[in-house]
Amino acid sequence: MTFLEFNIQFPNEQSIIDYFVAVRFPKQPCCIHCGSVKVYRKRGVSQCRFFHCNDCKTEFSIFHGTIFYNSQTDLRKWFFALNTILLAKKGISALQLQREIGCTYKTVWRMLNLIRKAMGNEENRQLFEAIVEIDETYVGGKPKRKNKHIDNKANKRGRGTSKIPVIGVKNRTTKGVYAKIALPNKEGKKLTGKQLLNILLECCKPDTTVMTDEFRSYGILDRKDTQFQRFVINHKENYVNGFIHTNGIEGFWSLFKRGFYGTYHKMSLKHMQNYLYEFCFRQNNLYNDEDLFELLVKQCVAA
Ligand SMILES: [Zn+2]
Repeated sequence: MTFLEFNIQFPNEQSIIDYFVAVRFPKQPCCIHCGSVKVYRKRGVSQCRFFHCNDCKTEFSIFHGTIFYNSQTDLRKWFFALNTILLAKKGISALQLQREIGCTYKTVWRMLNLIRKAMGNEENRQLFEAIVEIDETYVGGKPKRKNKHIDNKANKRGRGTSKIPVIGVKNRTTKGVYAKIALPNKEGKKLTGKQLLNILLECCKPDTTVMTDEFRSYGILDRKDTQFQRFVINHKENYVNGFIHTNGIEGFWSLFKRGFYGTYHKMSLKHMQNYLYEFCFRQNNLYNDEDLFELLVKQCVAA
């Protein structure tokens, strides 16, 4: 929603509390401890975010188990941050948001990190089917120079060890993306066949057709017991061979990297997955007609 719409819908903290209760308990409020519906909302400005349960005789905050729980930050600032991150196609930096809402840098950074985590908290993720593309890349280090297209290709699995390997799978039909950072295994090996296979198993139905490039580790997909059907595009020869290519997922990487180099400058390994969640959320909801603000607020529960 636009800034104006935001101000109309959420003029004050009370409006946010009412909105949140309606989103969290779409049917009727119930106790988060015992499930009873014999709950009533407490009155008064300072108390209205609490329910009392008549069955288990406890009191609970409507924000219990959400990213807003225990936060001292004004709820309007939280909601403003949620809306801003939804609008920012290439992501938003903590510094930029800090200028807009005026908390400390540390607070804003923490809020954004929690929101990103919530963006990965998809409730009913559908497994991919039909045709998917898988590709891995390295993110981090210094921004690439002008001829980055060439650099990227030459350097694709570059030994730049400070960079973080990430694996992504893109569904050709829905355009949805599933992406994860890939830490080296116990033997210190990166991007092993098993690792790549596990990512596919997490996000795809069996019998899915998988487009890969010639990277050796994808050879594991040629094994009968993996149940995937693999097509290989050899990038040393060409980039597209009929329907065999991995351009979709590579496009996602360039979007992600533009966001990374342009907005965030550096992402630590520890938080990289949350940035991936953020970009996947945007990508996965490009064609979603639902109210994305409401969807994201729902995902803030138990993130
Ligand atoms: Zn109860």
